[in-house]
Amino acid sequence: MKKWIGLFLLAFLAGCATAPKDTLMQVSTIDALLAGAYDGQITLGELLTHGNTGIGTFDALEGEMIVIDRQVYQARADGTVRRMPADASTPFAAVVQFDADRTAPIRTRLTNKAFQEKIDVLAPNKNLFVAVRMDGTFPLMKVRSVPKQKKPYPPLAEVTQRQTVFNYTNVIGTVLGFRCPGFVKGVNVPGYHLHFISTDKTKGGHILDFETSGGILNLDTCRRFFMILAESGQFAELDFSHDRTTELERVEK
Ligand SMILES: [Zn+2]
Repeated sequence: MKKWIGLFLLAFLAGCATAPKDTLMQVSTIDALLAGAYDGQITLGELLTHGNTGIGTFDALEGEMIVIDRQVYQARADGTVRRMPADASTPFAAVVQFDADRTAPIRTRLTNKAFQEKIDVLAPNKNLFVAVRMDGTFPLMKVRSVPKQKKPYPPLAEVTQRQTVFNYTNVIGTVLGFRCPGFVKGVNVPGYHLHFISTDKTKGGHILDFETSGGILNLDTCRRFFMILAESGQFAELDFSHDRTTELERVEK
């Protein structure tokens, strides 16, 4: 019996030890994704050693990623959601070991914009990263996803012209993602980047718009930033001198 408790403790500690607190860990850069660098860089198993909550996409840009409670879900362009195995990979993702430092109940109906303004009041330092998680009810939830791409990969702004959009009403689930500082331009998405997954794990995607009627908002402010970049492949060949701000605007909205 004692041996089993020891093994359990070891496994538990191993799972926690590699993910430092208040650290946003990201794979690759948003400009690399905009340029079409869709080859997976690290496995989901490795991604989960850096955090239990986050967003991203998958190898060949196959759908929207939602990492919640240490599980990775793929919201696909056909509107289905599936849990992904540890050996699948990601070309771009950001995760944190979520440890809320602010919790606030939401009791009134809020638009996407009002929701973001509420977070800005609760976490006023816009020069830090904020991981956002809200579990609640959503009278409106407009999300999109993108299909798997074939090589040569087209730029992201071309792919999102053919994205599929889903308008859900009265769904229960979780909004999660990040507010990043303005200075991450080119590296990540300045401002809010949020994804959604329903509680029953049947609906999800990259949020284009939503309204909430209530729930629990949790925020985790992160003052540490960690990146994993590719040594070779597409990333090594890319020219990052080009400003992709307008492309990002088109892709996000
Ligand atoms: Zn997204």
